Amino acid sequence: MNCYCKYCGHKAPSIHSLTGSLCLRHPSGPNKGKHALYEGSEKNEYTCKFCGKTYPLILSLTSSLCSRHPDGSNKGKHEPTS
Ligand SMILES: [Zn+2]
Ligand SMILES: [Zn+2]
Repeated sequence: MNCYCKYCGHKAPSIHSLTGSLCLRHPSGPNKGKHALYEGSEKNEYTCKFCGKTYPLILSLTSSLCSRHPDGSNKGKHEPTS
């Protein structure tokens, strides 16, 4: 089973290897923390939990700014629903 990071969409073969390396899109800043497990299942499309936009990959969802981010409009990236 593949594991994905909910911040950047990084794919890893196990939770251990995913959470053992630094995340370029960590909310605290690039490489300020480890990847975090996306707990949902693999899907054909992923929905942002703040604004409802859909993307075919977590990677593309988390790469663009969210107009309804809780920190303010375009103050953070989309986050996938699980
Ligand atoms: Zn990551
Ligand atoms: Zn969004």
